Amino acid sequence: MSYLVLARKWRPQTFRDLIGQEHVSQTLQNAIDSGRIAHAFLFTGARGVGKTSSARILAKALNCEQGTSTEPCNSCSTCTEITAGTSVDVFEIDGASNTSVDDIRELRENVKYLPSRSRYKIFIIDEVHMLSTSAFNALLKTLEEPPPHVKFIFATTEPHKLPITILSRCQRFDFKRIPLPKIVDRLRFIVDQEQVGISDGALAMIARKGDGSMRDSLSTLDQVLAFCGEQVKDDDVVALLGVVDRRLLQDATRAIFARDCRGVLDIVRQVDGFGYSMRHFGQELIDQFRTLVILKAVGDAAELAELSPGELAELQELSGGVALDDLQRHLTLLLRADTEMAQSSFPRLVLEMVLLKMANLVPVIPVDEILARLQSLEKSGRGVVASGVPVWEAPRRRPEGASVEKPRPAVTPVAKASSAGKVPESDTPREAPAEMNAGSLNEVTETSGDWEGFVMFVRGKKPLLAALLEHGRPLQVSPRLVELAYESGSFQYNRLKDTEVMTDLSGLAQAYFHVATVFQLKPLSGNTEGLPPTLLEKKSLDQSARDVELREVAASHPVVAAALEIFDGVIESVRGGDEPEKV
Ligand SMILES: [Zn+2]
Repeated sequence: MSYLVLARKWRPQTFRDLIGQEHVSQTLQNAIDSGRIAHAFLFTGARGVGKTSSARILAKALNCEQGTSTEPCNSCSTCTEITAGTSVDVFEIDGASNTSVDDIRELRENVKYLPSRSRYKIFIIDEVHMLSTSAFNALLKTLEEPPPHVKFIFATTEPHKLPITILSRCQRFDFKRIPLPKIVDRLRFIVDQEQVGISDGALAMIARKGDGSMRDSLSTLDQVLAFCGEQVKDDDVVALLGVVDRRLLQDATRAIFARDCRGVLDIVRQVDGFGYSMRHFGQELIDQFRTLVILKAVGDAAELAELSPGELAELQELSGGVALDDLQRHLTLLLRADTEMAQSSFPRLVLEMVLLKMANLVPVIPVDEILARLQSLEKSGRGVVASGVPVWEAPRRRPEGASVEKPRPAVTPVAKASSAGKVPESDTPREAPAEMNAGSLNEVTETSGDWEGFVMFVRGKKPLLAALLEHGRPLQVSPRLVELAYESGSFQYNRLKDTEVMTDLSGLAQAYFHVATVFQLKPLSGNTEGLPPTLLEKKSLDQSARDVELREVAASHPVVAAALEIFDGVIESVRGGDEPEKV
């Protein structure tokens, strides 16, 4: 007994058997019921989705000896002849090998004669888009005025290659890819009839390989049965089809969601061990996350996601606690990694890194949840979300005396006046000049204010000179004597010893202090302990003090405090708003 491949043995024989094309069979059955049967049909769609089978079922429905009916009897001689392809009135023509105009001329001759035994002469032309232009033109004549006893059924995978004149004379039916669950159902029915032991998971793998084509799925099943016999093990199917084991994908997904870094690396090791391509595995994982996103977004979406019920349940369990936003972020990372893997010489590295990144992805808090938390805070009276108080205007609760604010420069009014270029106003405090005038000028101790004021004044006139001064340690600053310490041999020290530079400096001091000022330079050799800081050092000290202060202020602001509580956060850094620029 010869072996009949499953695809032929289980070819659908009635409209009911036609899987996944209910829209086609329904319309055809309605047309037959109402007697409005077109004289030319065009069946389009991918290969293996049932076009030729439908053409034969339609031929039987039209010619069955029991009468034209939506359900051909499949037992009369006409029906059995059509099934076997031996009917004298049904012509199956392969468009790919009968493309010439002569073939069509022959067909036109044939069309003239009445059918020998049946109601209609039926011409089924497969791959009709392969006909030559002249053949189409010859065919067109017949299609324009077909004899009432003739029906044409064209099938094609590429309808866009047909001339519009042909298309417009046909009733067109678009066949869809068959959804995976329907293919699995049909495969299950067939293996049960064939008494083959095989799991749903393995059938899903086979169906996925078929990619929406029933014929391809059945051919794959044939191949699996030839290899495994009547008891099919999942591992054998995995090995035979070269598909990535779904368990690995599930394990990878589970490890990512569990933030298990060791786990994801172990998966990559296994992928390598099985000899899968890293990129292929990445792509399967992309498909897996696409499915997870769809399930999360749509809920019940077995058809959209192309899943068998078992896989569906498993994936829903996997992604239970993960938010849609996070799934989409995972998917984005994977897609980016796929591009990288395509270009990288180290695909394994790219895969490892992306999986680690995914395992360490911090979950986002959905906006809904944030709003809910804010509302509960408001209810509890702790929230001041809508107060509109900017962070930097919050009440400063710093205890008295603990000021870390930069001391305001105690610039003497004389200095102020000269630097501003005008006479001091009457309400300016006058204690300092009084002191200065009364006491010895040498008694005026160093005040950082004087020094800073002077350097600022110099910067306005000679910026380079001011830069030299910023590196000096002001041992003593008074209008008559300024004593500066520098690292001996430093650039600044040597520069200031230059007579020309010193002349400039004395001139500026004269303008600032209104007396002749003596500058003394002291060389230092490393040890700066106990010495006053340079202006540069002071600036950075002030800055860190200000940071501490800003942080305190920020932390005590109600909005920030609420945010910290809601997000379980810590203050990373604080930036001043419109605080004045420091010297
Ligand atoms: Zn019949």
